[in-house]
Amino acid sequence: MNNKLLAFVTEISRLVERADLGQESILKEAGRHMEGLVARDDWLPASMAQPHPKYYQQHLLYGDLFDRFSVVSFVWGPGQFTPVHDHTVWGVIGMLRGAEREVPYERTDDGRLLPSGPPRVLEPGDVACVAPGIGDIHAVSNALDDEVSISIHLYGGNIGKIQRNTYDPQTGSSRPFVSGYSNALLPNLWAMERGDRGA
Ligand code: FE
Repeated sequence: MNNKLLAFVTEISRLVERADLGQESILKEAGRHMEGLVARDDWLPASMAQPHPKYYQQHLLYGDLFDRFSVVSFVWGPGQFTPVHDHTVWGVIGMLRGAEREVPYERTDDGRLLPSGPPRVLEPGDVACVAPGIGDIHAVSNALDDEVSISIHLYGGNIGKIQRNTYDPQTGSSRPFVSGYSNALLPNLWAMERGDRGA
């Protein structure tokens, strides 16, 4: 692990140790550390920057042993996008390379989900947050049609094993999912725990 990522992980480990901090303070402090991490695009290993021709990739960079946080390299191929989804834990997104477009959603009185604001485009160095209570539902896409984009995601839990939801915005109905990790070169202990040996 290179020094910038190790320093970031060390700071976040210290942060989640602190029982005195609420979600708002954690997001503020973690956001500051994320700004430092994505200030320069000179540290991400090439193996963690690999896109897939069909699927956006979530390479696990670090998983806290006690599932208090996880750090993921999110690699977008050209034109790739997520469904509308939630996280159920706090998250901090730092844009490292390229650009991504985020559309926030909120539930209407009649149960549908509608965009709660205009799309936001993150560019290298930008940092954004998601969390229950401040806006946890969104859809994200590569803002570039012809290039790979990469953002670094920090979550307040082990995002690869947390059950969360995708949504059909027309009906507002949800479907549970577990995102897992894309890494081919690490043993996926969390998938093995589920019994599928992480193949
Ligand atoms: Fe998300």
